[in-house]
Amino acid sequence: MAGGSDKIDYVFKVVLIGDSAVGKSQILARFARNEFSLDSKATIGVEFQTRTLVIQHKSVKAQIWDTAGQERYRAVTSAYYRGAVGALMVYDITRRQSFNHISRWLEELRSHADRNIVIMLVGNKTDLEDQRAVTTEDAREFAQKENLFFLETSALEATNVENAFQTVLTEIFNIVN
Ligand code: GDP
Ligand code: MG
Repeated sequence: MAGGSDKIDYVFKVVLIGDSAVGKSQILARFARNEFSLDSKATIGVEFQTRTLVIQHKSVKAQIWDTAGQERYRAVTSAYYRGAVGALMVYDITRRQSFNHISRWLEELRSHADRNIVIMLVGNKTDLEDQRAVTTEDAREFAQKENLFFLETSALEATNVENAFQTVLTEIFNIVN
């Protein structure tokens, strides 16, 4: 297009990790297409989705990778992490176990990904407050201890999803600039 409005200045690979059914695919659907589905099927065949946004007058293409049902321990391959500069590590605030597993995901991420990867801990499904099983304080404490960004989201209500990606992408942008 004239004027170069389709020029991409940066491509940032960001990976989604966390237990099955915590809402990774719906967080991505919300961010990439502003869609949500209550009966989401396991993603098959699609490796990543993209969305281009503007950060400090530069065009940044976020390439967001979603696991295709490889959430079993150590089933995510190193190719998934390769080249990733950001990660959203997701648990479900109504399922304590998904939060307990976060330390395992973090260990896996740190052993496979780049040392400078920007990591956001994400507690999803805040619309189900009456079923909450992980306090905000517990998660915040863990995030502080491990040096992670932290937000609670609802893919259903579109709460903080934009904010989570924006924060990670802006931090990556600041690191490379
Ligand atoms: P994944 O396995 O981590 O990719 O999880 P999915 O994105 O497939 O979501 C698993 C289930 O949780 C689906 O039924 C979604 O509709 C539901 N879900 C995802 N995000 C939310 C949310 O923010 N709130 C509620 N109430 N349900 C959600
Ligand atoms: Mg999924």
